[in-house]
Amino acid sequence: MNVLVTGGSGSVGTHLRKYLPDATFLSSNDCDLLSQYQIKFTFDRYQPDVVVHLAAIVGGLIDNISRPVQFYEDNNLMNLNLVRACYQDGVKNVLGILSTCIYPDDLPDDKYPLVEDVLFDGSPSTSNIGYAYSKRMMALHLDLYRKHEGLNYGYLIPSNLYSEFDDSNPAKSHFVTSLLHKLAVAYSTDSSSIQLLGTGRPMRQFIYSDDLAKIIALSVKSGIYGNCNVCSDENYSIEEIAKLAMKVNGKQLSIEFDGQKDGQMKKNASNAKFKQLYPDFHFTPLADGLKIVYDKISKRYN
Ligand code: NAP
Repeated sequence: MNVLVTGGSGSVGTHLRKYLPDATFLSSNDCDLLSQYQIKFTFDRYQPDVVVHLAAIVGGLIDNISRPVQFYEDNNLMNLNLVRACYQDGVKNVLGILSTCIYPDDLPDDKYPLVEDVLFDGSPSTSNIGYAYSKRMMALHLDLYRKHEGLNYGYLIPSNLYSEFDDSNPAKSHFVTSLLHKLAVAYSTDSSSIQLLGTGRPMRQFIYSDDLAKIIALSVKSGIYGNCNVCSDENYSIEEIAKLAMKVNGKQLSIEFDGQKDGQMKKNASNAKFKQLYPDFHFTPLADGLKIVYDKISKRYN
């Protein structure tokens, strides 16, 4: 089985190499997904049976707010080019990766935790609108090929991720990774406080990217692409996560929130469908993951 992974040089892709050692992992240098010609050339060369589509323009809150057009256009073009090329080249299995941040924002309280059926039931958050709509279009595209052409085209919808392989640039990085870098700097310079964005009140479900990589590998091997949320039962406020990270990695420092605009206040997703499909899967507890990733990141500051 020839497995081709886009976004293979990214954070999730780097974790996935361990679990799919025989797959081909592509970076944008190997194949720029904005170019239909390069995709065609790549498919002719590798003739994949399975395509795992990880590639995307991904960023943190500030990056998403400041570059919505690029997030929309580039992701939309990449996804459209890639999924259509898979169909045209006869690829039978395509697994795309969405995100729980593309769900409607501010649904009534009784709609939480979010189930997969409500994906199109309202507008996503304005804080990541370009990224969210491009991912929703990919979900529709994959759904259409599955329903109308009978192909095994599907997706997973992971919650927020963290990893030692994430970009450490504060403008681009996601909250947990950025937090762990800030802690490593603060501890190594004997600071008494760290600065965080917002109010600390938004609630988040974070999973370790290595867990998502394991689930992607299980999906590829089983051929079951669940169209399901991928999230654990742990849902904490930003402030609680910061305190937990300090508890497991060193001493408590004071936290200075800048009080500026928060991202989505909540987006907790249901993992009921996931548990039916992967009943034996155990997520890395957040406290353990915060320690594992901190230990790897902090070595860079010693
Ligand atoms: P990442 O570390 O930012 O990696 C992005 C990957 O996309 C890189 O391999 C990059 O290649 C590739 N890429 C970007 N532009 C490209 C282009 N024009 N042509 C070909 N490849 C291109 O992302 P990640 O964190 O691993 O995320 C993997 C997937 O999970 C994404 O689809 C993301 O939307 C989704 N997701 C992420 C999170 C999260 O919190 N990180 C949460 C939920 C879902 P280069 O290295 O060559 O630039």
